[in-house]
Amino acid sequence: MPSLAPAPRLDLLGLPLEQLTRLVVDEIGERPFHARQLYRWIHQRGVTDFDQMTDLSKSLRAKLRERCALEPLAKDLEQRSVDGTIKYRWRTRDGRLLESVYMPAPDRKTLCVSTQVGCAMACKFCMTGTLGLLRNLTAAEIVAQVHAVNREVAHNEGLALTRPLTNLVFMGMGEPLHNFENLKDALQILQSEDGPNFSHRHITVSTVGLVPMIARLGAETDVKLAISLNASTDAQRDELMPVNRKWKIADLMEACRTFPLRQGRRITFEYVLLRGVNDTDEDAGRLVELLRDVPAKVNLIPYNENPGLGFFTTGEERAERFREILARGHVAAFIRENRGRDIAAACGQLANRQGPGAAAQESPSGATA
Ligand code: SF4
Repeated sequence: MPSLAPAPRLDLLGLPLEQLTRLVVDEIGERPFHARQLYRWIHQRGVTDFDQMTDLSKSLRAKLRERCALEPLAKDLEQRSVDGTIKYRWRTRDGRLLESVYMPAPDRKTLCVSTQVGCAMACKFCMTGTLGLLRNLTAAEIVAQVHAVNREVAHNEGLALTRPLTNLVFMGMGEPLHNFENLKDALQILQSEDGPNFSHRHITVSTVGLVPMIARLGAETDVKLAISLNASTDAQRDELMPVNRKWKIADLMEACRTFPLRQGRRITFEYVLLRGVNDTDEDAGRLVELLRDVPAKVNLIPYNENPGLGFFTTGEERAERFREILARGHVAAFIRENRGRDIAAACGQLANRQGPGAAAQESPSGATA
């Protein structure tokens, strides 16, 4: 017996312009310039209702309504930190939850974007890793986080801009390079001139070190690279980050040395300081040696303690001493300000739960961001 379920509608949000043009021309039977008009409505003006696209003909709008969709995420929860950080939790059409974190600063408005629901990498200090990988996000779901937060920020801050966000960091839930094809489509959209037009200088993709994919990121995109390193020896890293059992620190450093860097650009190394685990003077000295021939800067991240994971925060004095040793070894290092700790929005804390001090605001049921 044939299924009576309606055919799933195609989400246009995840289609780069070239694919959208093929759809509009080959399947809908319209001329190519309509694809560009449609793309601009979606990605420059952030419109999610085909009926508001007033320069498209009524018949085209009707065809789009019938076959296509534009909004794969609904806002499920919003939590505000005392430091201005806002964590958004989204619900996908199939009921999965994911999070993105908005971090305003005087000179920039940054969004930390998720690429997967959960994560397969199982880093021992990270709450997301405890979820396992539930599924990859589609390109539409990756782009939708950016559009939705742009609308939220414009509304909350009374801005006339359609794209108030200035910077994107792919450091949310998931390992971006483990979902490379969807990440690449999303980047193509987010960077396109007919779309949100984010500069490559303002986009950073962070990886735990999927070595072959680092080469692809360098060859197929022009965004900035961050490496989540967190250890100074293979023995330590094998324990903390299972990915290291496959690709050792030497493999990772070689991938960094051959990563194509634009002039003046450096690779960011993220190093979560774990008390008594990776924060000794010897660790700092080894880190200097590892980074000796890599254009690098190091972000030292005070650990955000997660209940049950068994790791503790390095004290301020120790962190400062670690930074000084790196500086003496001519490695630029910064102790990163911790954002959104009170709402479990900081690094390694994204696991669809609320923080202890959270001022959670439930959005109206079914409200779309
Ligand atoms: S630190 Fe990143 S890669 Fe590791 S488990 Fe957490 S989300 Fe995954």
